[in-house]
Amino acid sequence: MSDPLAAQPYSDPPYRSQTFNGMTVEGFSRAAMQTYWRIPQLKLGFDCGGHPWEFMNTPNWFISHTHMDHLLALPAYVCRRRMMKMSPPTIFLPAQSVHLVEKLFDVYKHLDHGRLPCQLVGVQPGEEYVLSREIVVTAVETFHSIRSVGYIVWERRKRLKPELQKLPQEQIRQLAVSGQEVSVEVRFPRAAYLGDSTIQGLDANPAMFEADILIMEMSFVAKRHRGDKLRRYGHVHLDDVVERREKFRNGVVIASHFSTRCPDREIKRIVTKRLPDMLAGKLVLWF
Ligand SMILES: [Zn+2]
Ligand SMILES: [Zn+2]
Repeated sequence: MSDPLAAQPYSDPPYRSQTFNGMTVEGFSRAAMQTYWRIPQLKLGFDCGGHPWEFMNTPNWFISHTHMDHLLALPAYVCRRRMMKMSPPTIFLPAQSVHLVEKLFDVYKHLDHGRLPCQLVGVQPGEEYVLSREIVVTAVETFHSIRSVGYIVWERRKRLKPELQKLPQEQIRQLAVSGQEVSVEVRFPRAAYLGDSTIQGLDANPAMFEADILIMEMSFVAKRHRGDKLRRYGHVHLDDVVERREKFRNGVVIASHFSTRCPDREIKRIVTKRLPDMLAGKLVLWF
């Protein structure tokens, strides 16, 4: 079969792409407009408010919550994979929304006169989902105006048990042959996705501050957007990030999902004034 992705000469909808230490982040996120991200090397994406044609070959999607701007393109994505004869994708989403998405797909099946083959997996905070021998994703609780979850993507490796490290190779081999477990699993948080949440979503899940790549929302940056509304709607303000500036031990912190009430230039000006070192150069404002 010819490559369906090669046939598309333009990108629609738009997205930005940037590589950090061998991992590429691609996506777009603006509050109330649309949000979609993927990390091709990990074979997964987060949220599906829009779906660029090129994102079609990513087979696993993790939905943070069901606000329209994070979900709208999901049926189109599933349909495209079927049309292009790709395997049915796996979609992870908050457990309480699964039956509603099934209903939505059911309506679309009638409208489109076509099947929407996929596996819908309801996730619960605290549970983990195995994507491959190396990659495991955990769902974590976040705090938004509707039920929402965040995700942490772990790379797991086997390491020789510390107490065996001084033994000669041959002895270790014999222990292994005799059926004794000689290795332990170690995990590294390669990526974390906050979705829409107040800053409590990070505070409650400290591994998010350790992930190589943290993709977080920072919907509001201006002084005029501080206050009660922010908490009621369940979003992060720049103030929250400034207060926790020492806590971010990530390789890169991608801030996104900016309110459309603030133009890009103003966001840049305010953030660079409040965080002149941009979290030691790790903070990326994603427009
Ligand atoms: Zn949103
Ligand atoms: Zn939302």
